[in-house]
Amino acid sequence: MSQYWSKLVHNLSPYTPGEQPKIAQLIKLNTNENPYPPSPAVLAAIREACNGDLRLYPDPGSDQLRAVIARYYAVAPEQVFVGNSSDEVLALCFQAFFKQTQPLLFPDITYSFYPTYCGLYEINFQTVPLDAQFRVAVEDYVRPNGGIIFANPNAPTGQLLALERIEWLLQHNPDSVVLVDEAYVDFGGESAIALVNRYPNLLVVQTLSKSRSLAGLRVGLAIGHAELIEGLNRVKNSFNCYPLDRLAVAGAIAAFEDQPYFVQTCQAVIASRTQLASDLQTLGFEVLPSASNFIFVRHANMDAVDIAQQLRTRGIIVRHFKQARITQFLRISIGTDAECAALSAALAQIVAAH
Ligand SMILES: *Cc1c(COP(=O)(O)O)cnc(C)c1O
Repeated sequence: MSQYWSKLVHNLSPYTPGEQPKIAQLIKLNTNENPYPPSPAVLAAIREACNGDLRLYPDPGSDQLRAVIARYYAVAPEQVFVGNSSDEVLALCFQAFFKQTQPLLFPDITYSFYPTYCGLYEINFQTVPLDAQFRVAVEDYVRPNGGIIFANPNAPTGQLLALERIEWLLQHNPDSVVLVDEAYVDFGGESAIALVNRYPNLLVVQTLSKSRSLAGLRVGLAIGHAELIEGLNRVKNSFNCYPLDRLAVAGAIAAFEDQPYFVQTCQAVIASRTQLASDLQTLGFEVLPSASNFIFVRHANMDAVDIAQQLRTRGIIVRHFKQARITQFLRISIGTDAECAALSAALAQIVAAH
């Protein structure tokens, strides 16, 4: 607490990221990072961009990267926005679209940055409970609102909402922006980008942090109608004209250009997920259906916090959320096959000793 802080700062409840411990030999399955390194082409492009040009500001519009993304998703460059991580893109979206009289709606269990941004930007919100199977029920979002946001697949549940349900939601909310946060869509979802040309109120946000193994580079993007993108640019250019540095732009372009590597690593994660889910079911865990690079699990008769602590003593960390309805769940990121096997073996011991 400081007398020098702005009044708002006293009331903020900042997001708590999953820990990044400095322990050697750790099996880190707590922050949904990709277990595989970025494409070699990405590393080469970043190395090549390490040159004297770093004295110059980057292109404020990241035009070259936006053109590559536009081609990749078959939209116009004016429909693409990029930023320094999808967290930053989301923050700009909250400012650009969700400061409305009516409350912003999002699921009771979803990415916990959403309420944090509401605190920062003084946005009024209402949470809408997921159904009993922890799925988004779109019918519950037909009520006065100043915007709708959810992650698809949702986090931390991992469950996917069908594109047809998203389209229904858009049709029933033509006057508000519907933002779909697709941080995990490449691990088994179908992107709502397919709908942006039909729904001017749809904005899709993605990140290179998960499926493109670039959490350390900080690149996120948004795709929607050109007018939504123009709104975002107004906010961005009132905040930071150069969100993406030269190295990030070079690496991100190379990531979109190496499709075979992207497909191969996503498929490897999906295959490991299938195996891990089946192994954990054998050990008595309920595993929610996942279309993401993590699984959300609970054990029939063992406490989640207890399991997490016991895993930790064995050098494996997973994520637990102290939140109503999900206190008995653990979110486990998909690692390499060796990491998943080590996790299964540790859990088998823990369950057997119980
Ligand atoms: C990881 C994650 C993000 C943030 O991604 P960055 O681009 O690394 O900031 C956004 N939304 C959800 C749902 C996520 O899980």
